[in-house]
Amino acid sequence: MSNITSNDAPTVVTVFMVERGWRVYRCVTCGKTFFTKLSHKNASSVCGWGRCDTKEYRFRSLPKKRRIVTPTEVNTSLCSHFSASGYETVAPRNVAKPGGQTDLVVAGVQMYDDVIHGNQPIWEGKVFVAQPCIRMQFQASVGSQEGTSTSFVNVCTEQMVVSLGEHLNMVDHWCTVLSKIGLHMNDFVIIMRETNKNWGTGDFPALELFFSYGGLELGDAVLLEIPQKSRASIPISDIGFGLERIVWAINKTDSYFDTLVPWTVEGTKEMVDSCRTLALLVLCGVRATNKGPGLQCRRFSKVLGEKYYGGDVYYALSYYFDYWAQFIKPLICKDAAVRLAQLEIERFVNLRIHKVVQGLPPPRDETTEAYISRLVYTCGANIHELRKAIQICRM
Ligand SMILES: [Zn+2]
Repeated sequence: MSNITSNDAPTVVTVFMVERGWRVYRCVTCGKTFFTKLSHKNASSVCGWGRCDTKEYRFRSLPKKRRIVTPTEVNTSLCSHFSASGYETVAPRNVAKPGGQTDLVVAGVQMYDDVIHGNQPIWEGKVFVAQPCIRMQFQASVGSQEGTSTSFVNVCTEQMVVSLGEHLNMVDHWCTVLSKIGLHMNDFVIIMRETNKNWGTGDFPALELFFSYGGLELGDAVLLEIPQKSRASIPISDIGFGLERIVWAINKTDSYFDTLVPWTVEGTKEMVDSCRTLALLVLCGVRATNKGPGLQCRRFSKVLGEKYYGGDVYYALSYYFDYWAQFIKPLICKDAAVRLAQLEIERFVNLRIHKVVQGLPPPRDETTEAYISRLVYTCGANIHELRKAIQICRM
């Protein structure tokens, strides 16, 4: 079977898809090849991916399953499917310790960072990993763009030194398991793209298949060939999906966050997203600093301190600590994690109070409760003025 660098790789993929009942189309808008199981009469002439994506999320009006599912259930189904198919399940990386070019882990394929960037021995065998990831580029759109969050679980299968045929077999495994958990192939569009990437070891070609379920991008299957300085380039099959997006696709609730927010918590998407990601960072041992992963910690704490102080923030943090602890081993216990997050959040609250109420000593590394006590009992500050000052940190 040919590999990715051969010119006929897209043809091999097309033949593979046609053999499995997919029809081939060319997008009238962007020109990309895409596959659907629908006939010409019913298929759209536009691929619906990337700039052809209208973000209407049509999938929400498809027939629903009777019972709502949780990310845990879906992850368990995926894990047992892949382990029965000969994949080894591996533990995810700490989000704050990628071995490559990013400050934070942004995708499951970074399990290979030490091989790609550190010249470590090549891994053998097929693996399944549920990798918590953080993508800061989504922070600005969480509130306005449905379906986005700054943290999510990237459920992936990975294999090194893979042929195109083996990669397509893995694509087949995903199609099977997605159907099994209730996402039927008839509702998918798969878009193909050939592209060039560079992960810091030189340009390389990639052949991508994007999986769109009723207008929602769920994940992609990518065949890469990564150049190496001191050895032959490494072909990698990297197939990854967003677990929370799969769950949304199955449940078809109005909002992506509908089942991601604790039932008793009320708050905006920005608030719950900040709590989710801050909980993940703290659980991974990250402390607020002025650069690297710690800077992101500080950013989320600032949002929570200056806009959402009080309310359900600490409960949500403890809830999300448990959420992430299902996937990644915490480096800190829950109480200590919430306490650390609290100190960092209240740092921003204290700074605002200090700015509003004139002539009082600046805050130290202390909670807002401790700071105000100090102001009231040792500096004779006005209680009512202080209580009013706290209000500016609530929306
Ligand atoms: Zn298109």
